[in-house]
Amino acid sequence: MKCEHCGAPLEIDQMKQIKFCPYCGAEIEIKEEMPASMTEVVHGIAKSFFIQSAEKIRYNHEHAAEIAEQKRKARQEENQNARKMMAYMMGGLFVMMTATMLVGKIIGWY
Ligand SMILES: [Zn+2]
Repeated sequence: MKCEHCGAPLEIDQMKQIKFCPYCGAEIEIKEEMPASMTEVVHGIAKSFFIQSAEKIRYNHEHAAEIAEQKRKARQEENQNARKMMAYMMGGLFVMMTATMLVGKIIGWY
């Protein structure tokens, strides 16, 4: 690379260390067009993997909530059915007892 100010040849190591041209003193603009370092690549992969994992976890959470809601509704329905059945049975028993008492009174059992 060359200094954009005076055209003096520059080494990258020099640029990294001093950031100023050793010939004319101009500030050297370090361009970030250099290939990404291994650390950056690994960091990028890790970041994207983390984001993907986070999204997957979030999706599972939402899905789990959905399943839990479905289960809750099914359980609620079961409970309602059980209560209805109990009510029918109690009602039936009450009707039978009342009928027996009435019939007993009419017939003269007591
Ligand atoms: Zn220079």
